[in-house]
Amino acid sequence: MNQPELQNLRIFQKLGRVDSKSVASCDQLLLILPAKPATSVFSQFPEGRKLQQVMKLSAPDSTPAFTTRLANARQTLVVAGTLKKDATAFEQLSLARKLVDAVRDQRAGCLGICVIGFDTEHQAVLINNTVAAALAAAFPMPSYKRKRSPSVIRSLRLLGADATIDTARTEAEAKGNNLARWLATMPPNMLNAVTYADLVRNLAASHGWNYKRFDTKALSKLGAGAFLAVAQGNDDDSAGIIRLRYRPNKKAAKADLGLVGKGIIFDTGGTNLKPFLSMLDMHGDMQGSAVALGTFLAISELKLPINVDCWLAITENRIGPKAYKSQDVITAANGKTIQTIHTDAEGRMVLADTLVLASREKPGILFDYATLTGSCVNAVTTRYSGVFTNRPALHPHLTRSGEKSGERVWPFPIGKEFMEDLKSEIADFMQCSPKNSGDHILAASFLSEFVDEGTPWVHMDLSASDNDKGLAHVGSKFTGFGVRYTMSVILDENLFKANI
Ligand SMILES: [Zn+2]
Repeated sequence: MNQPELQNLRIFQKLGRVDSKSVASCDQLLLILPAKPATSVFSQFPEGRKLQQVMKLSAPDSTPAFTTRLANARQTLVVAGTLKKDATAFEQLSLARKLVDAVRDQRAGCLGICVIGFDTEHQAVLINNTVAAALAAAFPMPSYKRKRSPSVIRSLRLLGADATIDTARTEAEAKGNNLARWLATMPPNMLNAVTYADLVRNLAASHGWNYKRFDTKALSKLGAGAFLAVAQGNDDDSAGIIRLRYRPNKKAAKADLGLVGKGIIFDTGGTNLKPFLSMLDMHGDMQGSAVALGTFLAISELKLPINVDCWLAITENRIGPKAYKSQDVITAANGKTIQTIHTDAEGRMVLADTLVLASREKPGILFDYATLTGSCVNAVTTRYSGVFTNRPALHPHLTRSGEKSGERVWPFPIGKEFMEDLKSEIADFMQCSPKNSGDHILAASFLSEFVDEGTPWVHMDLSASDNDKGLAHVGSKFTGFGVRYTMSVILDENLFKANI
C-alpha cells in the first residue's frame, strides 16, 4: 500500500514592506484585503495603483475579487480576495480555499501569501488560515492514475507581515487533517484492517508512541461482545482495537485526554444491507478513526505537554453467514446487554466497547469521533457536525471551538430520558429505535451507557465529514473535520485541564 507523504511544504517569510523583488520571487500570489480597501492599502503593494484600477473594473462581491498579472519576469499572477473585518473563521478559511483553488491550473512554483490592511493580530490569523488552505491543497491525496499531476504549489512565501508568523500549529493541524483525509479517501481494498494497523504501527514507531493492538481473541477475553458482533461478519480475522499512547513526560502517567474513533473500513450495512447509493462512499466510514489519529498526530507534532491515548475501533461491516442480525442479544464489555435492531447501526456497537475500554482508564476527558447517523446530517446538513456530552456545562466551550477553528458544531441533548425510546423487552436496551426519529440523539444517549459516569465525555457525530465541494479550507470530498476542532478545544479552551 502507498504511504501518505505527510511532510508539509516549506514556508519562507519576508517581513515588512512588500517590495517588487519579493513579489517577483512568487509564481502566484494570494492577496487578502479588507472589504472596500482604501487607496492607502493599495499603496503598500507594488503596482498598487494598477491593482486598484483592476479591482474597480471587476464585478463587486466576486471571489476572487480580481486577478491580474504583475509586470515582472515571472509575470506573477495576483489572485485577490476581500474580507470584512468581522469575518468568521469559517468565512476566512472558505475564502482561502477559493483563492488557492483559483491557481490550481497555473504553472507550478512558489505561492506567495500577502495580507494587508488589517491589524497585526488579525493579519497573523488570516495568514495562518490561508496557509492552512494552501497546505491542504498541496497535499498529495491517494491517486492510482498512471499519470499523476503533481501539486502546483511547491513552496510558500509569506510576504508583508508586521511580525514573524508562527505557523507551527497550522502546520501540525494540516498534517493531522491531511492524514485523516488521505486515510478516508483510500480505496477499501488497499486500506483494509491489516494495512491500516500496519500504517498506524509504523507511525507509532517513527513518533515514539506506544502501540498495542487488541485482536479478536483479546477482545473476547475482555467481553467486548458488541465490537465482536460486528467483526464476526468479516471474511477474515483482521478486526481489532488499536490503542496508542503519547506520553511526553512520565511513561506511566494517566491520560489527560482520550480519543476514540470509529474505523469501519467499509460499511455494507451488514445483514440489513444498504442500497447502492447509500453504500457507494462507505470506505469513508472509518473517518472517525482517521480524525482521532490525525488529532493524535497533531498533538504529538506540537509536542504538547499532555498525556493522550488514542483508540481506533477497526473492522468491516459485512454480510455473510456469520454476520450478526436483528434480534441478536449481545453483551458489551461493561456487562450491559443490547437487543440488536438494525445491523447498519454498527458504529455504536464498535464504539460501545471501545468507550468502555477507554473510559476504564479514567482519562481527564474523552472524545469520540464517528460518522454515525444520517439523522445528524438531516438535522444540521453536512456543513456542521453534531456534539453531545455528558457534561452539558461544556457546551459553550464546544460551540466556541467550532467558531474559532472554522469547523463548526451544533449541540444536542442526550440522557436517560431518551433511553426510554430504546426500552427493550428482552435486553437492557435496544441498539436503536425502529422508529428512527432523532437517531443522532438516541445513538449518543446509547453511547453514554458505555462511558464511566466519572469521565467527562464528548461525542462528535461527523456529519461534516463528507462534502462534495469541500468545506472551509479543505477542497476534498472527505474533509477530515474534527482535527482543527479538537486542537481548538485543547489550545483555545484548555478544556482538558479545566475543572470540568
Ligand atoms: Zn452502518
